[in-house]
Amino acid sequence: MLFEKLRNTFTSLVSTLSTKELSERELESILNNMILSLLECDVAYEVAEAIVKNLKDKVIGKKVPSSDIKKIVQEALKQSILEVFNEAQKVNIIERAESKKIKGEPFVILFLGINGTGKTTTLAKVAKLFKKMGFSLIAVCGDTHRAGAIEQLKHHASKLGIKVIEQKYGADPAAVARDGVTYAKAHKIDVVLIDSAGRIQTDKNLMEEILKVVRVVNPDFKIFVGDSLAGNDAVSQSKEFLRYTNFDGVILTKTDADTKGGSAISITYVTKKPIIFIGNGQGYDDLEEFSPEKLVQSLFSPH
Ligand code: GDP
Repeated sequence: MLFEKLRNTFTSLVSTLSTKELSERELESILNNMILSLLECDVAYEVAEAIVKNLKDKVIGKKVPSSDIKKIVQEALKQSILEVFNEAQKVNIIERAESKKIKGEPFVILFLGINGTGKTTTLAKVAKLFKKMGFSLIAVCGDTHRAGAIEQLKHHASKLGIKVIEQKYGADPAAVARDGVTYAKAHKIDVVLIDSAGRIQTDKNLMEEILKVVRVVNPDFKIFVGDSLAGNDAVSQSKEFLRYTNFDGVILTKTDADTKGGSAISITYVTKKPIIFIGNGQGYDDLEEFSPEKLVQSLFSPH
């Protein structure tokens, strides 16, 4: 089940705390073990530590009757997680695109992330969403390196009936991106979705190439695509991309296969950027608006 591991961790913590009268030392040791359990669920260390500290402040030395501990711990956990998400300002990209459309300008989105995270599929999902909302759009092949990248994007685009702007492999991605924006302006296209290359995040040339795209087309919105299954790797990728590009929002993919559930919390904690959507399948409609409240609700709902 989705995020089952994280949910089980919370359930077992809450039941351990409420089964017997605990001394302060026992309580402290249970909460310290909680950090390890959270780490196993891909919650980054700094986040796990912050959550547990918050819990300790609320229950240790407060003479909480054992009958109330369950409720207090549950509420404190919910609050700590919601606080992480609340630090990231919510954004609605459909509304943003709408306001550019009113001005007669294209809304330009740049997709960032490592190969294999689901970047191209996610671009196609976002394309389908915009199309469904009545926007005209084009896609731009900004990955001119990886063999097959252009064909892959064209494959999705042809299924969705979307025009693709491309150049040959080896071309400068910034030049292709500029072509895309120029085309969109000339043809009154509402939305431009730019794919980008994704080797490893520590590749300085890659980051410089992406920064050149950013300088040349000045996108309205930069989306980091992270793979929820990649756990702490996804967290460090998000940090690195943030450092270079200061992206505006996150789409977390493959949550349908993620039983752990911690990467959503960790990525938001370290980047302070909102998760706009989550990918929950391989189909074009498998994109869901992300709701922290819904996540927290599902983590604490009874089995
Ligand atoms: P890219 O290299 O980052 O462009 O990755 P792709 O878009 O090619 O996706 C890599 C694989 O992940 C493909 O098999 C996709 O179908 C799959 N994928 C992408 N998003 C999701 C998702 O939300 N859930 C699942 N289960 N698979 C996904």
